[in-house]
Amino acid sequence: MDFPYWKIATKSNNSVKNFFTKVKDSLCTMDQHNINYSIPCTSCLGQYIGQTKQLLKKRMSKHKSSQTKLDTMLKTGYNYSSSEIKALTNSTTAMIKHCITHRHRFDTGKVKVLDRSYHSNRLNTLETFHIKATKNAISFEEG
Ligand SMILES: [Zn+2]
Repeated sequence: MDFPYWKIATKSNNSVKNFFTKVKDSLCTMDQHNINYSIPCTSCLGQYIGQTKQLLKKRMSKHKSSQTKLDTMLKTGYNYSSSEIKALTNSTTAMIKHCITHRHRFDTGKVKVLDRSYHSNRLNTLETFHIKATKNAISFEEG
């Protein structure tokens, strides 16, 4: 006797499982909050280390829009002061400073969750720890 349906189900089981694992992982990362995270620079080995109490996807869209605003500003050729840049990109982070100084950009799609805590003091401590533990960390302490 033949069991065609059983065969089909078994055969496709692996690929279906892999598909859902990947989707679940990416959802989990972007839906986390109260975390320390790192974002790699696309042009050097620099890793931006940050923390957020917001959902990671919200924070990443802010980083992304800051970089887009910066690009738009730089394209005009006008020499913006650092306070103008801060005001217009809504950002005071070391990331934007690195973007301006080195003309590099960060890939927010490659963000990694480093740690998680609901206590903001602990997030600060962990951030300091990750900055020290990460080679080429880009942080407020840079420069
Ligand atoms: Zn860089």
